[in-house]
Amino acid sequence: MQELCSLNLEELKTWIAEQGEKPFRAAQVFDWVYQKGAESFADMTNLAKDFRTKLSESLSFPSLKLVRQIDSEDGETTKFLWQLADQKLVESVLIRSHDRRTVCVSCQVGCPARCAFCASGKEGLLRNLTPAEIVEQVLHIDRQLKKIGERVCHIVFMGMGEPMENYDAVLKAVSLFNDPAAFQISQRRITISTVGVVEGIKRLSKEDLHVNLVLSLHAPNQHLRKKIIPYARKYPLEEILLAMDEYGKETKRDITYEYTLLAGINDRMEHADELATLLKGKQCTVNLIPYNPVDGLHLKRPEADTIVAFKEALVEAGINTTWRYTKGKDIAAACGQLALQKL
Ligand code: SF4
Repeated sequence: MQELCSLNLEELKTWIAEQGEKPFRAAQVFDWVYQKGAESFADMTNLAKDFRTKLSESLSFPSLKLVRQIDSEDGETTKFLWQLADQKLVESVLIRSHDRRTVCVSCQVGCPARCAFCASGKEGLLRNLTPAEIVEQVLHIDRQLKKIGERVCHIVFMGMGEPMENYDAVLKAVSLFNDPAAFQISQRRITISTVGVVEGIKRLSKEDLHVNLVLSLHAPNQHLRKKIIPYARKYPLEEILLAMDEYGKETKRDITYEYTLLAGINDRMEHADELATLLKGKQCTVNLIPYNPVDGLHLKRPEADTIVAFKEALVEAGINTTWRYTKGKDIAAACGQLALQKL
């Protein structure tokens, strides 16, 4: 059965026209799902009963099941655990910052990249999510927020999974997040993060989209990077950086390089200097993320003065650098802490 939330408005219009109905009914269905919070086709009372029956026989209604929801102590982060139709589980995180409501979505069950510091990739990839399974994470959270007069306004593809390895589904979800009839979130408020899948970055730069692109860099050279991101063996760092430059040129968007600081591994001054040399002259920002502990991994977060010194070395070399304040650590919702879970 086709998933309703995998269809954009044009596709739903086409499908409805094929059923011999007026295409404008598609906008009514979208309004019920994305604005009015309908729980089933039966709720769509301005549609004829026969048509509602036809819809329910052919399209599956949003079906992501909320298994658990945990708030962080500071109230700024909420982690959601969802059950998919095949019983697999994925997580999303809502991050509140002033009046900004950002959802960090998952795009795969597990992750093929197997980054050394990350809980999501520990068991590799189980399967891709469908566009609907990505969209519904945001739909459910947006419905909750609407009840208190808030809306989701930013999306980051930084949950479980490598977005470039589920490219078509991620782009379909982006089109729904951006669609005025669905979430109406500007492309500039949507961020896709990748470990550096070169063909995906090149493809994205030709899409005429203006989403933000983030490279999970984590090391200043290929040798060290291969140890931290086993997947990086497939893609030489020089090729990735060229593809990122091309993305920046084509889309006029600044590039962000994320660098997870791991004590004794990639946090020495020589690494900071090498990183500054690597990125010299690029229109970019480096976002430093001190490692967030994951059960079963014997890695450590650097001391605060090491992090400060690393940041200062980059700033002195003229690299725009931020240090991400970690939210949601107490509920394992911080970067790299979303784990593959079983019921
Ligand atoms: S950090 Fe991202 S890319 Fe790396 S294993 Fe985790 S989810 Fe995958």
